[in-house]
Amino acid sequence: MARRIPEPFRIKMVETIRQTTAEDRRHALREAGWNPFLLKAEDVYIDLLTDSGTGAMSDRQWAGLMMGDEAYAGSRNFHHLADTVREVFGYAHTIPTHQGRGAEQILFPELVKRCRGQRPVFLSNYHFDTTKAHVELAGARAVNVLTPQALDTGTAYDWKGDFDLPRLREIVAAEGDNVAAVIITITCNSAGGQPVSMGNIRAVSELAREHGIPVVIDAARFAENAWFIRQRDPAYAGASIASIVREMFDCGDMFTMSAKKDGLVNIGGLCCFKDDEALFRAVQVNCVPMEGFVTYGGLAGRDMEALAIGLKEGLDDAFLSYRIGQVAYLGERLREGGVPIQTPTGGHAVFVDARLLLPHIPAEQFPAHALACELYLEGGVRAVEIGSLLLGRNPQTGKQEPSPFELMRLTIPRRVYTNDHMDYIADCLIEVKKRAGAVRGLTFEYEPPILRHFMARLRPV
Ligand SMILES: *Cc1c(COP(=O)(O)O)cnc(C)c1O
Repeated sequence: MARRIPEPFRIKMVETIRQTTAEDRRHALREAGWNPFLLKAEDVYIDLLTDSGTGAMSDRQWAGLMMGDEAYAGSRNFHHLADTVREVFGYAHTIPTHQGRGAEQILFPELVKRCRGQRPVFLSNYHFDTTKAHVELAGARAVNVLTPQALDTGTAYDWKGDFDLPRLREIVAAEGDNVAAVIITITCNSAGGQPVSMGNIRAVSELAREHGIPVVIDAARFAENAWFIRQRDPAYAGASIASIVREMFDCGDMFTMSAKKDGLVNIGGLCCFKDDEALFRAVQVNCVPMEGFVTYGGLAGRDMEALAIGLKEGLDDAFLSYRIGQVAYLGERLREGGVPIQTPTGGHAVFVDARLLLPHIPAEQFPAHALACELYLEGGVRAVEIGSLLLGRNPQTGKQEPSPFELMRLTIPRRVYTNDHMDYIADCLIEVKKRAGAVRGLTFEYEPPILRHFMARLRPV
């Protein structure tokens, strides 16, 4: 195994986390309707629900908070943020939003309005769940065009976030004017935090340009994607992360970003445009009633300052190598322990293949969700399902959509847990594996009509 990369920081402030007893956890999970989303965070020892907004800010970011200019309009921090976007991404126009979905909700309706076809559709390598929800709320369809190699979790492939290009060409030809936009999600969260290759980003962008289709980059994990390109594509072996980021964003026309990931802040988002000033103005108009005035978009001045600093800290080589190395270390420990995982591991998370670990639980009893419940009972570790429960039902037919995978995601917050925590997590999951045959599936007690995984209540069958 490659040498472990230790944390490239030291700890200046600590937050106590609480161990619980097995009985405490059984009680807490029952109260939460067998849905880890509904647990009190205090009842969780190691929280791997998400890497979104759960990272630790640096001393420089905390200092930035004190420099907040809380003017309603034209805050100094907004200008610092817009300048940083221009420098890092080369995009001229910036709208801050309260988080990633804020950007989606103000942008997508404009793309639908501009679409010439009668049945607008968005094509993505894989739509993130809120992205799909906002596409549908805007009256369009969301179609995923992910490379089939992503579905085979056991076989290593460098670019499991790629679009299936032949399939994309077919769909673009068949849908014609209906294609409202192509959304390139970097890294591809739902496929396991898997990177998209530069060749694929470029090919998708060229295809879109030939057909006059706008290219949106869903940029939550832009720095991790750039790191993978440098690591895995020999053409970029000597390139800087910053130059790879610029090259990726040159392929897009606009981006939405949840800054709660690689932006290294606890709250914030961006909606930015390379040069389409008319679209930028139209989206600004939506921003005012939905997010807030165009120079704050739901954020405090201090939040924008922390983000301006975080966007650049997130590009740091030592940080990215440690970050992605820590995820790989957890994956390696699990693989050694015989736990089936998506290989290679992605940027922000290890995905455990619950279909392989719990083959006796059918998709409609949510094997990956059942596994997450067991992991919590075992050691107070909170993970999340990415599978049938998340995917939900077809809005037209009301039938469960067949999910291509049943994964449990162990999402690693940035700069929060040490490698000792990674060992503890691996030990717990290896214990669960020993009694995998006894784990039971789950059924609904309450099923919400939309984004059901957040609020659902279940019980073991
Ligand atoms: C998190 C995320 C979003 C949504 O962002 P929020 O900040 O949670 O609203 C959109 N796309 C991707 C790929 C994400 O990971």
